[in-house]
Amino acid sequence: MADRPKVCIDRILPSHLRRPQHTLRVRGGIRAVAPIGKTWMNGSTLRVRFIGGTPNEQAITREQAGWWGQTANMKFEFDNSPNADIRIAFDSNDGAWSYVGTDCRGIPLNQPTMNLGFLDGGTAAHEFGHAIGLAHEHQNPRGGIQWNEKVVIEELAKSPNFWDEATARHNVLHKYSVDQINGTDFDPDSIMLYFFPASWTRNGIATKANEVLSALDKQFIAGAKMYPKTGATTTSAAVLEVNAKRRTAATIGKFGEEDLYRFSAPRDGRYRIDTRGPTDVVLKLFGPNSETALIAEDDDSGIDTNALINVDLVAGQYFVQVRHFNRAGGRGKYSIKVQRL
Ligand SMILES: [Zn+2]
Repeated sequence: MADRPKVCIDRILPSHLRRPQHTLRVRGGIRAVAPIGKTWMNGSTLRVRFIGGTPNEQAITREQAGWWGQTANMKFEFDNSPNADIRIAFDSNDGAWSYVGTDCRGIPLNQPTMNLGFLDGGTAAHEFGHAIGLAHEHQNPRGGIQWNEKVVIEELAKSPNFWDEATARHNVLHKYSVDQINGTDFDPDSIMLYFFPASWTRNGIATKANEVLSALDKQFIAGAKMYPKTGATTTSAAVLEVNAKRRTAATIGKFGEEDLYRFSAPRDGRYRIDTRGPTDVVLKLFGPNSETALIAEDDDSGIDTNALINVDLVAGQYFVQVRHFNRAGGRGKYSIKVQRL
């Protein structure tokens, strides 16, 4: 094997690239990074389908996915179901990549959401980190890496990556802005970090290949902003009554945390779910009768920075995830209502 790094692509859907960015300050002491609004609901079971792969490749993949499953409040079910949330190809000509978190639900069901073209070290764990909503640690804006852009672009254009400049910029040089992520300081041990040599940077920072989850990876993924064991889950989600006389009032503790609700749509029709109040929230709707099938998401279509979803639904059970996205931080008060229009 060449000693050049093999690196991975986290694919971001075009709609998310276009999404207007907010300015905010991230505080706190936990270090993995997660783009806001791409996490699954806490306690979700994600179904996985293999598209090819040898028994050995599939076994490695299952084992490394389990590293996250042991720590986070989520499960993977490798049932090869036709409408699996995560679909994994093993195309050795297509590198290693994954869509991030709930973006996987935006991909047609007959297409992979992840490719494991190689399985060196902790590659499968790294890609599953993307699939549950994590970004690249080396793109952490608090990382302090000063890239030697020319060297990085030249090196990534060679084997085994063959990336053009735009791909290199997106995957390595581009940093998420602090407003786009949950998390703070740089974690040199994170599985979400690429291996790269010191010659790639102007300030002599090199990284090692991390092949297992770091202590901070585990702490972050099990923390309040991701998948806490003690947090509310889809089974304990508060019930919203459709067309209730009063709006349901709530408070989310901190920036980045989430509340979960469920409601039953009694018959087919057009429904509106909206929030009110001073807290900027991101709203996501899953269903029918599924905690992982993302139907709609919204940030700011409601009044001020409130969220609003108008959508045609068939009768069934639905889940609503409300994520605190208040730039100013603090305790987030809001109210929520579901109406059949
Ligand atoms: Zn990656």
